[in-house]
Amino acid sequence: MAYLMAIDEGTTSCRTIIFDDQCRIISVAQHEFTQHFPRPGWVEHDADEIWETQRRTMAEVMDQAGLEAGDIASIGITNQRETVVLWDRRTGRPVHNAIVWQDRRTADMIPRYDTPANRELVHRHTGLLLDPYFCATKINWLLEHVEGLRADAEAGHIAFGTIDCWLLWNLTGGTVHSTDISNACRTLLYDLHKQQWDEQLLELFEIPAAILPEVKPTSCDFGATEESLLGAPVHIGGMIGDQQSALFGQACVEPGMAKTTYGTGCFLLMNTGETAITSEHNMLTTVGWQLEGHGPIYALEGSVFMGGASIQWLRDGLKIIDEAPAVNDLAATVSSSEGVVLVPAFAGLGAPYWDPFARGAILGLTRGSTDAHVARATLEGIACQVCDLLRAMEGDSGVPLTELRVDGGAAASDLLMQIQSDLLDRPVLRPEVLETTALGAAFMAGLACGVYESLSDISAHWTQEHRFEPAMDEADREVQLGRWARAVERVLGWIQEDEHEA
Ligand code: ADP
Repeated sequence: MAYLMAIDEGTTSCRTIIFDDQCRIISVAQHEFTQHFPRPGWVEHDADEIWETQRRTMAEVMDQAGLEAGDIASIGITNQRETVVLWDRRTGRPVHNAIVWQDRRTADMIPRYDTPANRELVHRHTGLLLDPYFCATKINWLLEHVEGLRADAEAGHIAFGTIDCWLLWNLTGGTVHSTDISNACRTLLYDLHKQQWDEQLLELFEIPAAILPEVKPTSCDFGATEESLLGAPVHIGGMIGDQQSALFGQACVEPGMAKTTYGTGCFLLMNTGETAITSEHNMLTTVGWQLEGHGPIYALEGSVFMGGASIQWLRDGLKIIDEAPAVNDLAATVSSSEGVVLVPAFAGLGAPYWDPFARGAILGLTRGSTDAHVARATLEGIACQVCDLLRAMEGDSGVPLTELRVDGGAAASDLLMQIQSDLLDRPVLRPEVLETTALGAAFMAGLACGVYESLSDISAHWTQEHRFEPAMDEADREVQLGRWARAVERVLGWIQEDEHEA
């Protein structure tokens, strides 16, 4: 029996999972780490604490499973993306707390770069948008605000990495400074067509090339752990950003296959094969993964801000349910929302509308409307947003969606999944192993060391727990999607530029 270790480093916690080669979970350990909010809109992590926490979970899963280093065929790492760590190569110590992907401190740096030509450059070369969400402005902020850092960086003493790269550096005892292409392509500094760091963008964002890691495929030989860590060196064979890892963990290995993670927000990725498609609908183009000896496989990515969070609003704001899962029983007391539409634009709308001025609304109320209709309309509102994104992805790629694979907390709702299948007119498939993010990293590691031989091997290891088939009349679907489109029109641009929200 071969075992694979998945290091799953998230935004709030570090987890490590050991899988056997049949994708069964053997042991899991998880610990949260500290979130630092030094000012409004700022979010930081202590990179040393992340490493210490991760290391603890690695020791715990080995203990629990009763395994030794020699039993682990390979390690795969998956991680929160876009979070920036800079450290001193001489000491291995971070020069500042990590700046987390959610951090908005560099929003006011954007106007420096914001010309139509630069926006076009960024979009064409990286597949992303000029936004403080990504690494480039965060790195520049550190170079400007930590005393003496720019000179040290130019002299080659400073290393940059996203969390995958930071963990790899520490796992290998400070000997390997590499990242993988799925993380590199989220920095705003990487040309995803030429597959190299982009000199024009490095110059634009004033970032010295000397800080950059080597970029490798997502599945390859990244090095081995330092001997003292697990008792003997263990091969590291996979590194992949969390959303791409979930796409791979869902075995979405053919163009047109897509996954949605229904968490607080919803995260959608669709495999577009060997072509990097530039979106006409404000979606991101990203590298899904790259196996050694092959070209990259690309994906389109979009997200819904309010997924499960809309259900939390029913619980905490409207207080019509006591706990999130209760939404299903309440919604199931009515057979339709009877014309009630809830547009969950509580925080504006993301792709394909991209309107920060939109706000949430409940439309179509009559004297007969009840909390049950609102509950059902909430589930429909989540599903409609996912439909909008998937339709836009189909439009961009010209590749029809074959089926949708799902995970995340709210994917537990059978009713939501049925509504999704009905509105999408496609099968919705929920897997046995819901730990798809960790599983993707384990698959990458398994491919690198020969535990798995091919993509068809990966597909064969994905097993379905439930398949939801569309069961709605075409005419009903059109009525409902038409009503949704009209409702969205009503909420766009709701907040006026001169209106200050309380
Ligand atoms: P995150 O990783 O973003 O914290 P999770 O994947 O843990 O999110 O999913 C949590 C979300 O799923 C919550 O917003 C909650 O409203 C929703 N949720 C959890 N269980 C159910 C359920 N049985 N039915 C519907 N929604 C649920």
